[in-house]
Amino acid sequence: MTELLHMRDNYLREFQAIVKSVGDDYVVLDRTVFYPEGGGQSSDMGTLSDGSRTLNVTDIRKLEGEIRHKLDDAPFDVGTKVVGEVDWERRYENMRFHTCQHILSRYLQIHYNVETKGNHITPGESRADYTPLESFDEEMKREVEAGVNEILDRNLEVEIKFMPRAEAIKFLTERDYQTRYLEMVPESVQEFRILIIGDYDVASCAGTHVQNTSEIGHIQIGKSKNVGAGVRRIYFELIK
Ligand SMILES: [Zn+2]
Repeated sequence: MTELLHMRDNYLREFQAIVKSVGDDYVVLDRTVFYPEGGGQSSDMGTLSDGSRTLNVTDIRKLEGEIRHKLDDAPFDVGTKVVGEVDWERRYENMRFHTCQHILSRYLQIHYNVETKGNHITPGESRADYTPLESFDEEMKREVEAGVNEILDRNLEVEIKFMPRAEAIKFLTERDYQTRYLEMVPESVQEFRILIIGDYDVASCAGTHVQNTSEIGHIQIGKSKNVGAGVRRIYFELIK
């Protein structure tokens, strides 16, 4: 299995690795800092170089139990030592959007009693789905924006902790984390990665996040639409 260096440090941008196996257009490495698409967050991009050739990594996916780095040219051979570099601008924006989505979700949970059904984190504009939320008029939008921005302006520290399963479930449940997401974690997962945003929010999440809410800027809520069964999709952007 590929060691996922970004699980412990979201600010790593460069790393050295060895090619463990190759496919037609991808390599599998012994370690990586590239975030594979998953949990609603879009894939990283970047480069891999062996010193003579630098290839673009256009997509990273977990498929058939392995992390595949898709390349824009013929893959390196097995055993090649490579240096990887993440497209930091893209990743950092994902980190800001993703952390902001947690705060938006928590705000809506507290003030509107809605659950998060899913999310799609990508640079430029992200979105999340909430239920039950039949209407979301201009007045509510502005109220949520102001509320979320007030939280962001508290400059809350964002921490990642690893906890054994039982301890994590207790910790999250005591802090009102929505159980639907806990139930989605397979029984085989014995160690949880816990996200703690100051005294405001906790979550079980494998995504990438900033270290302090001051890095996010402010939220600007855009359009929203019903996507069926009482579920409302809310789009948002970030402004500095
Ligand atoms: Zn997250």
